[in-house]
Amino acid sequence: MLTAHAPAGYAVSKLAVSMGWIPKSAASPRTAIGIGVFAALLPDLDMIYFLTIDQRQHLHHGYWTHIPLFWVAVCGAAIIGSCLLRCHRIIPLVVLAGVNLLLHCFLDTIVAGILWHKPFSHRYTVFAEVPNVYPYTALNFILHWTFALEVLIWLAAFGVFAWGRRAARRRAIRIPHAALTDF
Ligand SMILES: [Zn+2]
Repeated sequence: MLTAHAPAGYAVSKLAVSMGWIPKSAASPRTAIGIGVFAALLPDLDMIYFLTIDQRQHLHHGYWTHIPLFWVAVCGAAIIGSCLLRCHRIIPLVVLAGVNLLLHCFLDTIVAGILWHKPFSHRYTVFAEVPNVYPYTALNFILHWTFALEVLIWLAAFGVFAWGRRAARRRAIRIPHAALTDF
């Protein structure tokens, strides 16, 4: 996935906030969406290590930052820690981050391998192989049919954004009206 991690994270996080799954006591809607989008992008921060320290020696999808079970363990530990510290209000945020981290891994599985079974197996899972036809790697991905999924994700994110704006406008119109009827 080249471009759609952020819009996918936005759409999922915005819907979670709008459905009331993230209580305001945990975080403001804006902060919760920010945490969700950050988590949706977080695994790809390993590109810094890939390009600088590792010098492109290994697939960055083989690093622990792209191992789904690693993130399941991290989020599980964070939830257990929150319970032990009686800080239950952050649990929905941990779950939201976990969902977005796994969403990143799932979206990467479409055209690039992900080690879903690590540490039990070192076999990469991939849904569609992209043939190496063009001299530029990015062009191979952009001109492959799977890129249509990225476009769909962007459209879905814009749809969720527009729906959120419309709902907010409706609420803004309704609130003064409700205030008038109170008197
Ligand atoms: Zn990735």
